[in-house]
Amino acid sequence: MTDNNSHNSLSFILKFEDGLDAKYKQWAQEAVEDFAALFPEFKNNFKITKQSPRFSEEIINLLRKKNEEILRIYNAEHPDNPIPFDGEKFCQMFEPAADGKYEISLEKQLSHATDQQGYVDMQKLLRSQRAEVGFCESPQMYPFVQIAVFSGCGQGNVRGISGRHHIAVAAGTCDLVTKGMSKDECKRYFKEIIMHELGHSFDATHKERTDCVDNLGWHDTDPSCLMYEYAYTREAFARRKNKKNPFCNHCMESMRQNMRETWRLQDRPLQVLDDEKELPQKPVDLQQRREWRTFARQLAAKMQADYEEDTKSSIFCATIKQKDGTCTKISAVDDNISLSAKDREGHKIVPEQQVFKALVEKARKNGQTINFGNIKTPEFKARLLIACMEATPPMNPTNAPELNNEFYDSLGADSMSARRLKLLQRKTTAQNSSQTISEAQTATPKTAQRTPKNLTVRRERGR
Ligand SMILES: [Zn+2]
Ligand SMILES: [Zn+2]
Repeated sequence: MTDNNSHNSLSFILKFEDGLDAKYKQWAQEAVEDFAALFPEFKNNFKITKQSPRFSEEIINLLRKKNEEILRIYNAEHPDNPIPFDGEKFCQMFEPAADGKYEISLEKQLSHATDQQGYVDMQKLLRSQRAEVGFCESPQMYPFVQIAVFSGCGQGNVRGISGRHHIAVAAGTCDLVTKGMSKDECKRYFKEIIMHELGHSFDATHKERTDCVDNLGWHDTDPSCLMYEYAYTREAFARRKNKKNPFCNHCMESMRQNMRETWRLQDRPLQVLDDEKELPQKPVDLQQRREWRTFARQLAAKMQADYEEDTKSSIFCATIKQKDGTCTKISAVDDNISLSAKDREGHKIVPEQQVFKALVEKARKNGQTINFGNIKTPEFKARLLIACMEATPPMNPTNAPELNNEFYDSLGADSMSARRLKLLQRKTTAQNSSQTISEAQTATPKTAQRTPKNLTVRRERGR
């Protein structure tokens, strides 16, 4: 399953202007920590650091050429709105670091982007940040997001701006607009600016979503979500007051998908199978055996059934025996589980819905996604999918069947599971869209493979 393009780390680089008020440094760190904590499935992938990237002379020259080339093409296509680039000046931005390499200080970038009145042109600042990666949005090449915080004010009251790899936040503007707020509120306001901009770096909102609008970059139409188009107004800020997670479920799922597919972060999905022969041929890890035991025992208790475990087996293997003679077998190796069941006559049946529900709950608790393994029975797939869709918030599994007529026919179009899925599908579609609901629409969001644009300066404005 490993592919060469996958990497296991994503660094959040905090870059502070010299002399920035210590509270902002503290809050920025907390904002990134809070953001990372929303994605427990990637917690081993995230690193938070204050170490900015350093470049060799050779790389600086390469970047200069790359920038000149990209901007030459861009400017030819946009004669009305060209982006100026001075190669000499660009190279002068780099200063020698202790290890013989070079780095760009935020102070230098700011000095180029500050106007005569002392306001920072945030777009210019973002451009200068982006020049560090040759305007290239490539999570594979550059597995980092840099968050720069400066003391001054943004032109036109801009609070934050973001590209895929770079974010800049104006603490000075934040200071002004939070006048009169309590310290806790100021802190939340500032942290939410960083989290909103991080939301853009991970494409929380995008044009494939029907509930988003393009208003100075793609934003959510849900007024209680942090990705709302007017997220920085006092009204919107007040609306989010007691929310544990400032992002809505749709934004969360978009970001998860983006982290997996664009940033190529590997989470540990929980693979579900309907045949234990498909399990990896290796003994189960001790810690995992304990986890599976807890899961299966609790499930047996919930079903008021007897629990039996084959402790001699090298993999985890337990049977839940219900009073009516139904036996549900759970076999597991690390992050792979196989479920099967038999009725009192020994006929093979699909395990009960509550088994799947418990499994999705377990995955959610661990911050794992459900992956549909090689499952043969449509009814099994349907029940697993029902459990995912009924979870709060709903889980977006991988390799799930597409909800089309063919799948419904394989289930029996009038079966209980088909009817339940159709209902759920309608509910999801209604939430996702205010457009006419059609029976044929699929509920499982299609994998949106968006090619990162080479030169999109995403504009951000706080209002
Ligand atoms: Zn949202
Ligand atoms: Zn925004």
